[in-house]
Amino acid sequence: MTSARTRERLVERLRLNGIANTEVLDRIRDVPRHIFVDEALASRAYEDTALPLGRGQTISQPYVVAAMTEELVRDEGDGRTLGKVLEIGTGCGYQTAVLAAFVRHVFSVERIQSLFRRAQGNLQSLGISNVSLRHADGWHGWRSQAPFDGILVTAAPETVPEELLEQLEDGGRLVLPVGAPGGQSLVSMTRRGTQFERRELLRVSFVPLVKGIET
Ligand code: SAH
Repeated sequence: MTSARTRERLVERLRLNGIANTEVLDRIRDVPRHIFVDEALASRAYEDTALPLGRGQTISQPYVVAAMTEELVRDEGDGRTLGKVLEIGTGCGYQTAVLAAFVRHVFSVERIQSLFRRAQGNLQSLGISNVSLRHADGWHGWRSQAPFDGILVTAAPETVPEELLEQLEDGGRLVLPVGAPGGQSLVSMTRRGTQFERRELLRVSFVPLVKGIET
C-alpha cells in the first residue's frame, strides 16, 4: 500500500493532470507521505486527496502541493534562485518536506503547537535539516528573516495579507489560496518593484487562515 507501484501511480496521475516539472514529480515520488498521516490512514496516503490531521486541519492534496511548488519554482535558473522561502501553515510538514529540496532554507510557521511539534518530528525523522519551524501567527510572516524569494501559504485568507507582500524580495513570488470557503482560487503574485503581477491558477479548497495561536 505504500509500495513503489502505489507512488508511481500517484505521480502518473499528477502528470496527466498537468504537473510538468519532472523535479517536482520526482520529489513527490520520493517524499514518504504515509509518515505524515495517522497510521490508520497510511493505506490512503498515496491517493490524490486531502486527509484529516486532527484539530480540524488537513494534509493537502498531492496535486495541490505539486502545483504550488511548481508555481513557486517557475523560471528558477532564469536569473531567479530560491534562497529563502517562507511557508505559512506547516501542518504536519508534508509541503515543507517537498519544498525543502528546491530551496536553500525554508522558514515555516504554524499556529497550532501540537502540529508544530509533530512537523518537527516528521522532518527530523527524514533528515531534512534546511528548515526552521516556528510556533506563531503567520499573518505577520517572519519579519526578522525577510525578505523572502518565495512565500507559500497553505491556509486561505479572504484577501491577500499586506504584511506578506511586504516581506517579498523584488522578483519573489507569493503563492496562496484566497477567498471564502467554497470560493477559493490559488493565486500567484510576483513582485516587480512596487507592482505585483497576479495570476489565478485553479479553484481550490483550503482550511481558513486563522488569527492568533493555539497550544
Ligand atoms: N502544509 C500542510 C497543510 C496544512 S493545513 C500540508 O503540507 O499538508 C493548513 C495549516 O495552516 C493548519 O495546520 C493550520 O493550523 C495552519 N494555519 C492556519 N492559520 C494559520 C496562521 N495564521 N498562522 C500559521 N498557521 C496557520
